Amino acid sequence: MEVFIGILALILGILFIIFCFKMALKPSRCPYCGKNLALVENDRVEIKQEKVSRLETHNYYNKQGKKTGSRECRVYGTRKYYQVNYYCKYCRKEIIRSEHFDIY
Ligand SMILES: [Zn+2]
Repeated sequence: MEVFIGILALILGILFIIFCFKMALKPSRCPYCGKNLALVENDRVEIKQEKVSRLETHNYYNKQGKKTGSRECRVYGTRKYYQVNYYCKYCRKEIIRSEHFDIY
């Protein structure tokens, strides 16, 4: 019985790794011919910017290295939206995507 559970856990582990691998490959997969690592960035155009903020926790330590307290502060940054043009290096079709990045 324990052997059976061990094998089951192993299979689930392998499936999980395959799933992660597929998710990692997905952004560069061509939607037309289905090949992995196919997309090459061609052009990038900034569409808009937006102000964003997030909460960061700052910890305070004394001379002995012990934590004495913490404080939350809001950090402001910019979110940039891009329209990115890719082309597939196998079938040469163009793919347009919008992406955004946060800069703090
Ligand atoms: Zn393709």
